[in-house]
Amino acid sequence: MTFVITQTCCNDTACVAACPVGCIHPTADSPDHGTTEMLYIDPQSCIDCGACVDVCPVGAIHPGDQLPDSQVRYADINADYFRASSGDRLPIEPVGARRAAPVQQRVARVAVVGAGPSGLYVAEELMRRGIEVSMLDRLPTPFGLVRAGVAPDHPGTKGITDSFGWTMARPELHTYLNVELGSDIQHEDLAAAHHAVVYTVGASVDRPLGIPGEQLAGSHGAGDFVGWYNGHPDFSQLTFDLSHPRAVVVGNGNVALDIARVLVAGPEVLSRTDIADHALEALRRSNVREVVVLGRRGPSEAAFTASELLALGYLDGVSVTVDPRDLSAPRSDERSAAYGSRLKERILSEFGRPVRGSDRRIVLQFFGSPVELEGADRVQGLRVARNRLEPDPHGALVAVPTGEVESIETGLVLASTGFRGTPLAGLPFDDARGVVPSEGGRVVADPALRGVYVSGWIKRGPSGNIGTNKSCAEETVRNLLDDLDAGRLATPTTSRSAFETRLSERQPAWVGRRGWQSIDEHELAAGRPGGRPRVKVVDKDRLLRLT
Ligand code: NAP
Repeated sequence: MTFVITQTCCNDTACVAACPVGCIHPTADSPDHGTTEMLYIDPQSCIDCGACVDVCPVGAIHPGDQLPDSQVRYADINADYFRASSGDRLPIEPVGARRAAPVQQRVARVAVVGAGPSGLYVAEELMRRGIEVSMLDRLPTPFGLVRAGVAPDHPGTKGITDSFGWTMARPELHTYLNVELGSDIQHEDLAAAHHAVVYTVGASVDRPLGIPGEQLAGSHGAGDFVGWYNGHPDFSQLTFDLSHPRAVVVGNGNVALDIARVLVAGPEVLSRTDIADHALEALRRSNVREVVVLGRRGPSEAAFTASELLALGYLDGVSVTVDPRDLSAPRSDERSAAYGSRLKERILSEFGRPVRGSDRRIVLQFFGSPVELEGADRVQGLRVARNRLEPDPHGALVAVPTGEVESIETGLVLASTGFRGTPLAGLPFDDARGVVPSEGGRVVADPALRGVYVSGWIKRGPSGNIGTNKSCAEETVRNLLDDLDAGRLATPTTSRSAFETRLSERQPAWVGRRGWQSIDEHELAAGRPGGRPRVKVVDKDRLLRLT
């Protein structure tokens, strides 16, 4: 028996560090690090010690002989990775060879703006060195996209909040929630009270389709829909017309698959999750029975991960179909060589068998670009241009219209085409990429910005899964510490208590650690009678009344 990494792998590599024999790959020093969809255990070298299980923050590692049906294939997927890859494996180290390096302690104060996973990883890295952290967020709740982005039917992934418990409970952490930078507090206030300011504000704006009809009722960005079903206070008042039997999700990323699953999952599944109550009620009444997930390129180029694709095949009462024409289309040689791409093609070729008794289905349609939303005052259809793939001057395969156009009848179109960051006052902004440009997290455009850093999606764009933000945070903090040690950071001119006094004048309703704990306890208790992880409070005023 060996251990196996399964669907919820978050890539944070805590297991790699814990493994005494180095059998989990890619390791941080491998060329594959950060590019594979998940981590894998080599069954040939695993010694069954279970050290990785204890440290996995999302419960993704299981004994190979105890895998539930939906995860059984991960035994082969783990083993195949080592058969398929070559050259990235390091020599197996003897048991006990890895020793944690001593961590040098420092005296400093750093402000981290954004209390999502990126901010929490940055805070953790800093506090391990004794550095005091002020963590701010504009919402009264922490955890960013783990609370407001991860789909409710992925409780394992949401479990990563438990691993942030150490960070949230540290005496070095000062939490200031419900604080909006720019109105409640200014960058200058943070800079005056801290050695450095790290922005980890994410990328929250939907990339538009830019086609006629996009403004019609029934056309929405994925961020609106995801925020709505996850009970984000900014989106809880939205309504979505679920009266038509077909919805179309444009885009081929993991968010598109999240949305498709939520639309067809059925209330019996969703009612056991922490989905917002208003969304659960609307989905109970939903007439949507088919979701078309539209990709502009082919299966080999799809942005979704093999693990999320595989999981679609295990949805109760849901068929998944793919047009056989799409599977036989020419493939990108480079992408098909990647393990994840070949795995996706294999999984896709297995879809198509209707699930007995299913009245809901997900249709994966490739090689189609949206060109126009049809309808007089609301969406009635989506015109789609059929594409073929051609290499661009850099060798990447791009979608080129064949001239063939078809119409898909639908009442709801959700554009899940990725996100972009928004400019931050006083900071440079790369409009094409939607990020704050930096060198390894240092914002260097202007000497006046000495001591300003970024991490997470606002630094590198919306890519990777939650654990990817850990290595991103390590890089930013490494550079920040270099600057601190070299005396390049200005000493704060105001104290923490002066900062808190100013904050309380500007925003008396800021929420600290205890306030969040009251919200958390309330939500957890509300979930218990119905066997749900929690019932979210989705209204900002109500959240504040609970603190
Ligand atoms: P994404 O992975 O970047 O996917 C965006 C998709 O939109 C791509 O398929 C892209 O196609 C397509 N697209 C972009 N512009 C388009 C246009 N004008 N017309 C048609 N299609 C267009 O973005 P995402 O799904 O929002 O995910 C963001 C990040 O969060 C990803 O790293 C994702 O893996 C992660 N995430 C992970 C999970 C999970 O682990 N379970 C869940 C949710 C999100 P092209 O490739 O052709 O550009």
